[in-house]
Amino acid sequence: MGARVDVAVIGGGPVGLAIAWRCAQQGQRVSVHQSAAGEGAWWASAGMLAPVAEANFGEGELTALLVRSAARWPAFAAELTSLTGHDLGYRSEGTLVVALTSDDLVEVERLMAYQQSLGLPISALRASELREREPTMTPRLRGGALAPADHQVDPRRLVAALQVATARAGVETVAEHVADPSTVDADIMVVAAGCGSAVLTGLPVRPVKGQTLRLKAPGGAPPEFRHVIRGYVGGRQVYLVPRSHGEVVVGATVEERSDSTVTAGAVMELMRDAVDLVPGLAEYELAEVGVGHRPGTPDNAPILGQLPGRPGVVVATGHYRHGIVLTPVTADAIAEMVRTRVDPADLAPFNPGRFSRQREGTVAWS
Ligand SMILES: Cc1cc2nc3c(=O)[nH]c(=O)nc-3n(C[C@H](O)[C@H](O)[C@H](O)COP(=O)(O)OP(=O)(O)OC[C@H]3O[C@@H](n4cnc5c(N)ncnc54)[C@H](O)[C@@H]3O)c2cc1C
Repeated sequence: MGARVDVAVIGGGPVGLAIAWRCAQQGQRVSVHQSAAGEGAWWASAGMLAPVAEANFGEGELTALLVRSAARWPAFAAELTSLTGHDLGYRSEGTLVVALTSDDLVEVERLMAYQQSLGLPISALRASELREREPTMTPRLRGGALAPADHQVDPRRLVAALQVATARAGVETVAEHVADPSTVDADIMVVAAGCGSAVLTGLPVRPVKGQTLRLKAPGGAPPEFRHVIRGYVGGRQVYLVPRSHGEVVVGATVEERSDSTVTAGAVMELMRDAVDLVPGLAEYELAEVGVGHRPGTPDNAPILGQLPGRPGVVVATGHYRHGIVLTPVTADAIAEMVRTRVDPADLAPFNPGRFSRQREGTVAWS
C-alpha cells in the first residue's frame, strides 16, 4: 500500500469500483481494497435492470431509486464502453412477464395493477401476443405483460470494464482482505463490501444465497429468444436472461443461508421451471451453476451515507437484489457525498441511521 489516499474503498464489486471511478474522476486520490478470496454477489448475478417488473408493494422509495438509477444506465454504459472499449452486454429489448397457470395470471395482474398505479411503463399482453414476440415460448401460457424499459447488462463484463476504467483513472488496487478498517490510511473510507460490510460496520447486512444456472445454446447459436422472460410458474418464479454471446442465465433461488453449496434440488427446480416456459432449453448445455450472496437488509433497501459514530466512514451496501441496477445512482451519490461532506436529502430513506439508535444529522463529518 502506497501513500495516504483521499478515499479508500473497501470492496471491488460493481458498487465499490463505480464509486472509486467517480471519485477519481473528481480528482481525488483513490484506492480500492479487494479481497483475493472469491468474488462477490456480482459473479452469480443476472444483471437485470428491472425497476418496473420488480416494483413491489410497500417499497415505494426503493422503486423510485431504482427508476432513477435505471434511467442513468444507458449513459453510464455508453461512457464506460467509450472509455474502455468493453461491450457490457447492455440490451434493451425489454422484459416479458409471463404466467403459466390462471392462478399465476391473477398474481401477475395484481402486481401489474400496482405498478401501473405508480405510473410505471408496463402493459398487459394476451398469450397470443406474447408468443408473437417470442414464438419459442410454450403455447400453455395464460397471459402476461411487457415492461419495455426493463433492460439488462452482463455483470461480469461490467466489473471487467470498471476494473479497466478505475485503473485508467489512476485508482490504486490493493489485493487485501480488510479485517480491521483502522489499518487503512485514508481521509475517507467507503465500505462497499457487499455481505462483508456487516463485520466492518456492525450494520444488519445478511447474506441471501442465490443459485443461478448458465446454459449454452447448441452449436454456439444465439439463444432462441431475445427478451428477458420473467415467469410465474405454478406459484414459483423464474427468470431467463438471454445474452448476445449465446448464454442464458436462469435464476434464481432465494435462500436465507450463507453456504456456497450447489444443490441438486435448486438445479432441478430452476431447469424444470425454465423448460416449462421455453421447452427448447432442455437441449442446451448446462455450462455452469453459480452461487452468490445478495447483501440483504431488514427493509430490502440499500444503506447509503455516513456511518453514525464513525466520522469519515461512508457506507454503500445492502443492495440486495438490485446492486447492478443501483450502481450508477449509488456511485454518483456517494462521490457527491465524499466531495461535499453532506448526505443528500433525497437519500435520507437509505441513511444508515435508520438502523442505529443515533438519529440522522447528529453525526459530524471529519
Ligand atoms: C443470484 C443473484 C442474482 C442477482 N440478480 C440481480 C439482477 O438481476 N439485477 C441486479 O440489479 N442485482 C442482482 N443481484 C444483486 C447484485 O448482484 C448485488 O446487489 C451486487 O452485486 C452488490 O454489489 P456490491 O459491489 O455491493 O457487492 P458484491 O458484488 O458482493 O461485491 C463486494 C466485493 O467486496 C469484496 N469484499 C468483501 N469483504 C471484503 C473485505 N473485508 N475486504 C476486501 N474486500 C472485501 C468481495 O470479495 C466482493 O468482491 C443478484 C445477486 C445474486 C446473488
